[in-house]
Amino acid sequence: MFCPECGSTDKKMIGDICIDCFLKDFKIIEIPENIQVTICKHCNSKLEEGKWSESNLPEEEIIYRALERNIKINDEVENEIIDLEIEQMKGSTAECVVVAFGEVYGISIEETHDVNVKIIRTACPTCSKVQSGYYESVIQFRADNREIHPEEYEKADEVVQRTLNKQYKKDKLAYCPQISKLKEGYDYYIGSLKSGRKVANALKEEFGGLIKESPRLISEDKSTGKGLYRIWISIRIPEFEVGDFIEYENKILLVEDIGKNRVVAVDIKTNKKHTIPWKDTESIKVIRKMKDVEKAGVISKSPTTIQILDPVDYSVVDLELKDNQKDINIGDEVDIIKIDDYYYLLN
Ligand SMILES: [Zn+2]
Ligand SMILES: [Zn+2]
Repeated sequence: MFCPECGSTDKKMIGDICIDCFLKDFKIIEIPENIQVTICKHCNSKLEEGKWSESNLPEEEIIYRALERNIKINDEVENEIIDLEIEQMKGSTAECVVVAFGEVYGISIEETHDVNVKIIRTACPTCSKVQSGYYESVIQFRADNREIHPEEYEKADEVVQRTLNKQYKKDKLAYCPQISKLKEGYDYYIGSLKSGRKVANALKEEFGGLIKESPRLISEDKSTGKGLYRIWISIRIPEFEVGDFIEYENKILLVEDIGKNRVVAVDIKTNKKHTIPWKDTESIKVIRKMKDVEKAGVISKSPTTIQILDPVDYSVVDLELKDNQKDINIGDEVDIIKIDDYYYLLN
């Protein structure tokens, strides 16, 4: 056969031309000379085909993968081997060499490509939001009818931080760009609504109370008419605290435990325990605080009663003993609480 390009007549023909002429223009792989990779300088996320995705790969690995993704291997090549190497970094550009080996029509060939991979560092949409202090929800930490104690603020800060740390693995907007310390309570600004709700629930779990959400229209998308809302979530912790005396369903109860779903309180007359669900706690009235408990010395005792001196006017007061109080003795000091002019002996 005669090769129309080189005129030779004794070589293997590939189509219309000889193998040598065929190989002159043959390439094992195709790869662009310049490749760009966009990554987020804050969280290392990577932009690919218009989409940001999380990537915790080291820079080198990002470069290698960019090379791999851009290589197209010619279908006619067999047994190909492709070596990737980063020669050097020049600023944000990696100067790379791609060496390809392969066989085509039984002949081994090798070729080298110089490729520059430029890394563009920018901020992904999530990190841009974080940078600008973006937030979707505000948690209003309040107490019903009383001031919040410093220990409660301290605890609340800790609960908020702990919840956000836990959420951050799944939600990059689980952060608190701002805390407003107001007289009536703290406002915690939370990046996402999802994490905001988690924070509110964690606070409820710690302190009890009631949660209420109120959305506020922030702006409106003129083209779609859709509103952009920010959600204010108030968590109102109760006025009563563990150790306080409350009135509930005409009974006087001592609060023993406050949980996320219920309040446990014990009747100070009968020792009977009551579990009050949160939805019913609105009717609870605080009648005495823990600090109102007084102490008195026992001056005499019968099998069913003791006598103490009224701490205010030193008059003698008879108190009935409950079953679990029978081992109180003369000379002991007991806890009492005065409610409606009547003294109750506490356990
Ligand atoms: Zn030829
Ligand atoms: Zn980012």
